[in-house]
Amino acid sequence: MNASEILEMIADEVRTCKRCELHHSRKNAVPGEGPADSKMIFIGEGPGFYENEQGRPFVGPAGKFLDELLEQAGVKRNEVFIANVVKCRPPGNRDPQIEELSACGEFLDRQIEAINPRIVVTLGRFSMAKYLPNAKISRIHGQPQWVDDRLIVPMYHPAAALHQPALRSTVKEDFSYLPKWVLEAEKRKTFNKNLPTQGDNESQDVDPTQLSLF
Ligand code: URA
Ligand code: SF4
Repeated sequence: MNASEILEMIADEVRTCKRCELHHSRKNAVPGEGPADSKMIFIGEGPGFYENEQGRPFVGPAGKFLDELLEQAGVKRNEVFIANVVKCRPPGNRDPQIEELSACGEFLDRQIEAINPRIVVTLGRFSMAKYLPNAKISRIHGQPQWVDDRLIVPMYHPAAALHQPALRSTVKEDFSYLPKWVLEAEKRKTFNKNLPTQGDNESQDVDPTQLSLF
């Protein structure tokens, strides 16, 4: 099976999934969408009202703002994968519960494994916590860091910026650096290829601080 067939299979499983309580209230599950060979994946929290109606991620007001942020950063929405930590709408848009996050997590993990993106943009605290469990978004937003060979870029959730207008310019600025992070991620790939492999005498001479570009 190739990566897009795997993604289709996961989406089919999600649409009929009953692993957590959220399946009772969903109208449409929202597996996520985008090309299987995306270099970048964006991970939100969970479907809201409009996403539940349409079965697609980020199509309501937060989605409109995300579209705007992507466009001003020069990122084409149809060239990136967009998903959520839970695939069914929490009633009244409440926070997803621990049991729901852990029941649904396997779908997202399999999507990420199939796509194998270099860059993971987390939107809000729930997807950030997956990679950076103790981080505070107000301290680290917009600052990328490598986790297991992927560049994690923690962003405020677009809906947070809609509710707190003071965050809007911050989020816009953070997004404007995305093209730079894409270049940095590419550089690191090339750089890593040239590193001495294990068992090579020279490996002792490599300064580990040099391995990080940030
Ligand atoms: N908010 C999210 O976190 N995800 C969506 O898909 C839509 C709004
Ligand atoms: Fe299944 Fe995830 Fe929907 Fe829960 S939220 S029913 S685990 S797809």
